[in-house]
Amino acid sequence: MEVLIIGAGIGGLTLALSLKAAGIPCRVFEAAPTIKPLGVGINLLPHAMREMQALGLEPALAAKGIETRQVSFYNRFGQHIFTEPRGRFAGYDWPQYSIHRGDLQTVLLDAVIERLGPDAVRTGHRLVDAEQSEHGVVARFEDTETGEALPPVAGDILVGCDGIRSTTRSLLHPDDGPLVYSGITMWRGITRWKPFLDGATMAYAGWLETGKVIFYPVRDDVDAEGRQEINWLCEFYTPPRDPSGDWSRAGEIDDFLWACRDMTFDWLDVPAFVKAADFILEYPMVDKDPLDRWSFGRLTLAGDAAHPMYPRGSNGAGQAILDARCLTGHLARPSAALDPVAALKAYEADRLKPTTDVVLANRRIPPDAILREIFERTKDTPFENIDDVISQEELLALSTRYKQIAGFERDSLRARDDLV
Ligand SMILES: Cc1cc2nc3c(=O)[nH]c(=O)nc-3n(C[C@H](O)[C@H](O)[C@H](O)COP(=O)(O)OP(=O)(O)OC[C@H]3O[C@@H](n4cnc5c(N)ncnc54)[C@H](O)[C@@H]3O)c2cc1C
Repeated sequence: MEVLIIGAGIGGLTLALSLKAAGIPCRVFEAAPTIKPLGVGINLLPHAMREMQALGLEPALAAKGIETRQVSFYNRFGQHIFTEPRGRFAGYDWPQYSIHRGDLQTVLLDAVIERLGPDAVRTGHRLVDAEQSEHGVVARFEDTETGEALPPVAGDILVGCDGIRSTTRSLLHPDDGPLVYSGITMWRGITRWKPFLDGATMAYAGWLETGKVIFYPVRDDVDAEGRQEINWLCEFYTPPRDPSGDWSRAGEIDDFLWACRDMTFDWLDVPAFVKAADFILEYPMVDKDPLDRWSFGRLTLAGDAAHPMYPRGSNGAGQAILDARCLTGHLARPSAALDPVAALKAYEADRLKPTTDVVLANRRIPPDAILREIFERTKDTPFENIDDVISQEELLALSTRYKQIAGFERDSLRARDDLV
């Protein structure tokens, strides 16, 4: 059996590594002419790190990223609301890492080239069509730069890991609607800055009505002064600007600075910090209504192609990784060689409901719902004492609820079987 993987993003590369480890041949086809380390920060939560560890990638990720020690929440006046430890610091068997998306993709790509060979990833191949018969699939590509048709490629199964603007998805669901704008736009960037708090904290402040900011370091010790590269984002409700789902669109500081202008905390001068950014990107929070089906015969979807979700809660990459591992688990069963169609259906049956729940949770009850709760209870005014506003038990319950939905609550993660 040979698997054709469309897209060399986080999900596609993880799938290639998993299939290789399971002894299943595969090839990856990527539209980009060269794979560049694009994007800004991403968090790998313990459920994703469990899979990265199984693939032997933790040392490489540890060398590039930063092991997250804790998550802290503040209101927009800089008053501390809640801190909870993360990953191994919270008693998990697996760590949590904050990492540049480009570093994560590079770690995966280097491993694919080392383990599957230099020809395993074919760049400049944009999928335009796919056909299937009882016996196999044929994928049709065009050269991304010239638009010329490339020779068709035959395989046994095709998995669309082609991201938020997936061609595979539009082939399988021709009536699929457009990306749905959440009402929230985020501006993101990376600033080189001296470590703040403990140098390994993910910090949230404010709320969406007046402006919310998030910070976490993704690269350590990047210069002689011991600065870190710190990922940040500033987001708020705003009418649609460009809901195209383009991750690389440049942003302007004047479009968002007003929302964090007064955030001069004793641990960070936010306006000075964002002004010092190396670059700024603008990204509209978009997703799609969940599908009721991903697998059609020998074709299926994984990652953002299957379930585009708002990039909050650190689950975009994580759920793509879990899809890749679960799909491998089904394809590695002896029965899959005889009936790959049933294996793709079984994968869909395992993953469709959990990912639908995350898409919907990210819309309604995201992990930073703690900030919404405080914003509403205090009517956006400073508090005297946080315990008068909300109890520690309520804060913990809000945090745990999201972990359960997204599949990374500590005890259930430890108790669940391996995916492969
Ligand atoms: C350029 C870029 C920057 C990003 N930056 C961030 C970020 O800063 N923070 C964050 O949280 N998330 C970011 N993401 C999204 C994040 O990587 C995904 O949400 C998550 O990792 C799920 O991974 P995925 O493999 O499903 O999709 P992705 O990682 O998006 O990978 C999809 C891949 O498919 C390729 N592709 C698309 N269409 C075709 C086609 N027709 N034929 C062949 N290949 C195709 C794309 O070029 C891409 O490499 C970014 C994605 C991209 C593409």
